[in-house]
Amino acid sequence: MPSGDGLVVRVRPMRGRLTPLQAQGLATLAQHHALPMLELTSRANVQLRGVHPDNYPALLHGLRGLGLLDPHADVEARRNLLLAPFWTDTDSTAPVCDALHHALAAPDAPTLPAKFGFAIDLGAQPVLRTSPADIRLERMGHHVLVYADGASTGTCVPPDEAAHRAMELARWFVACGGVTNGRGRMASLLQQHALPAAFTRTPVAPALAHAATVGPTATGMVVGLEFGQLPADTLHQLSTLAPLRITPWRSVVLEGLHTAPALPGLITRTDDARLRVAACTGAPGCSQALGPTRALARLVAPLLPAGRTVHVSGCTKGCAHQGATLTLVASGEGYHLIDHGTAHCSPDATGLDAAGIAAYLEQARLHAPHV
Ligand code: SF4
Repeated sequence: MPSGDGLVVRVRPMRGRLTPLQAQGLATLAQHHALPMLELTSRANVQLRGVHPDNYPALLHGLRGLGLLDPHADVEARRNLLLAPFWTDTDSTAPVCDALHHALAAPDAPTLPAKFGFAIDLGAQPVLRTSPADIRLERMGHHVLVYADGASTGTCVPPDEAAHRAMELARWFVACGGVTNGRGRMASLLQQHALPAAFTRTPVAPALAHAATVGPTATGMVVGLEFGQLPADTLHQLSTLAPLRITPWRSVVLEGLHTAPALPGLITRTDDARLRVAACTGAPGCSQALGPTRALARLVAPLLPAGRTVHVSGCTKGCAHQGATLTLVASGEGYHLIDHGTAHCSPDATGLDAAGIAAYLEQARLHAPHV
């Protein structure tokens, strides 16, 4: 898709994983045909930016050679599968993912909206509840609970039936008119339509929100990336160490490792202030942005009171983040500040520059030192 700095090309790694060869090839493609700075998205995709249209065919050819493209673009558009990155060879993630991929590639697959997605969250505890998805698959004992995003009930089936039931729900979504002008989300549809009876039998159990952080895990070392940006040189170096799993939390898992080298762009310490900051591309990279974002985010990060997070957005669309405790939105005339709200909310202060934001944070710290 076009953007302020050329085409953005979004890559969907199979099973959310890059082999060393794929990671190395992707880094080389970014260096030759795009900006040498890749981006991770909240759906665990990898984006290349700044692609000149003349370079697009060579880039696609390279991605195809790395096994990172589906045979047809419409299948790729439907393959919106988000995997919990800590999956193992012994849980059901890989077979369920492959069965869903197969079903979405079938000639009779429903035409789904561009953002319609599936969360395959089959670890011991769900970790993707706050990540965007329309149909969720979670472990329930030795079975899989399949449910619609926003619903309090679903259907519990053996793993080898899970993809089939998820597709049943996707077809129901389309049949009920969930797709409007190529858009539409499951949670909105549920406000107007009751679920099919089969999906009302098993309650969805409450779960604690997953606290995404960095550090060693049983799957491998999780390293964060400032604003989700991954320098191509760093990707090259990582490709020599381990396969990579892409998370939806702007981090990667270095499969099988328990430490990570100090490389540009990597965050390895849990107390790094950059983990509390999110910012979209902003100006000049995004043509809709009303101001820059990332330089301001770097300035604000060290000023944040303990426990607070900030999201700097180039416009009210708020692409980068929804859950920060402080949101700053470029307006063309300074920044709107929203305390405990999203980029769409009414601002608590307007027209601020960096000094005004710092003063606001100091006041907040003085009046609510416990926050
Ligand atoms: S939030 Fe606005 S400025 Fe930022 S990337 Fe999205 S559309 Fe662009």
